[in-house]
Amino acid sequence: MAHDGQAIAPNVYDAEPIPASAMAEIERLLISGDLFRYTAPEGAPVAMLEREFAELMGSRFALAVSSCSAALFLSLKALDLPRGAKVLIPAFTFAAVPSAVLHADCVPVLVEVGKNYRVDMDDFAAKLPGADAVLISHMRGHTSDMDAILDLCDAAGIPVIEDAAHSLGTEWHGRKIGTIGKIGCFSFQSYKLVNAGEGGMLITDDAELAARCIIMSGAYEHNWKKHPGLQNSFMQWQNRLPLYNMRMQNLSAAVIRPQLPEVAGRVAKGRAGHDRVASRLNECGWLAVPPALPPEERAPDSIQFNLAGTWTDDEARRFQTRAKERGVTVQVFGLSADNARAFWNWQFLGEQPDLPQTRAMLMRACDVRLPTRLTEAELDFIASALVDAAMDVKG
Ligand SMILES: *Cc1c(COP(=O)(O)O)cnc(C)c1O
Repeated sequence: MAHDGQAIAPNVYDAEPIPASAMAEIERLLISGDLFRYTAPEGAPVAMLEREFAELMGSRFALAVSSCSAALFLSLKALDLPRGAKVLIPAFTFAAVPSAVLHADCVPVLVEVGKNYRVDMDDFAAKLPGADAVLISHMRGHTSDMDAILDLCDAAGIPVIEDAAHSLGTEWHGRKIGTIGKIGCFSFQSYKLVNAGEGGMLITDDAELAARCIIMSGAYEHNWKKHPGLQNSFMQWQNRLPLYNMRMQNLSAAVIRPQLPEVAGRVAKGRAGHDRVASRLNECGWLAVPPALPPEERAPDSIQFNLAGTWTDDEARRFQTRAKERGVTVQVFGLSADNARAFWNWQFLGEQPDLPQTRAMLMRACDVRLPTRLTEAELDFIASALVDAAMDVKG
């Protein structure tokens, strides 16, 4: 772990231990071999996780699936859009998001994102006519102007899906992110707030959408009877929807369930840690952390900031190198080869119009992981390394 000269550089890729209470449940599952969510007549770990997650979010229905990407795909399929339907997505997101749109036989339309990492509302309003659905990816947990987005989409009768993969615990006017659109999708991949290696969840208050997602996720035959509160809706869809088999298995639920009571604490710690580092970076003059929009209460486990003032690409690369020499990995999104968050690398989309605003942002926006378990000393180490690296290049 420790290298010469960087003995106390924190490892930001290590995960936290899974709560010990998961062990007994995992042992019970291993001994019984009861891993499939639909074997037990009731009380399966996946079913209990769904109930607990719906309660935590205050939503009517929750469906656990294999990943957030699966949740996004099922959400789009559940909307029953025509083949080739246009789905607006922010141009700043992870490659899995446009991929989920393609997987659902839809066409992603990329919307410009500003220097504050949020959807540019002028470009959004310009591209909305002609769109069939909107998928708002709250990239790195940054919330776009959901008031303006919902106003425009409601007026046009266009459904909104939220990619809240990285937004568990974030609030907008005190409302939980993921409960604002028709469906909210979450990830339990290891770099998110709750770590199960892989896993996803979708939530909705719409019974028809929930029923359609549940059947398509792989609730074949009458397994839908094990999902509460939807009996009438299911009757309508039995045998009429394809089964994509994107279910979660019981071991994942056993890993996730004991972490849910820790979410509030992780959110508070993540926010405090982020703000501690942000204030140090903002003081130095060469680095700028864009403020959140006023209605947003963030739940960050990483920090994004811009190289402020005039920087050349070469200076930006030297900044990365100098930070690395101090033990801190910082990625300028647009300068690392094949970065999956740079839209020009999504060649699977075919020819795309350029997005100069998003491109300019990605060329100077930096990304550093700040897992919520870091101590204040570790956070300060990271902040100092970043400020010192900036001063090396620009000071
Ligand atoms: C991680 C992430 C995803 C993908 O989640 P998976 O569970 O790995 O499929 C999608 N969108 C955003 C914003 C993410 O951060």
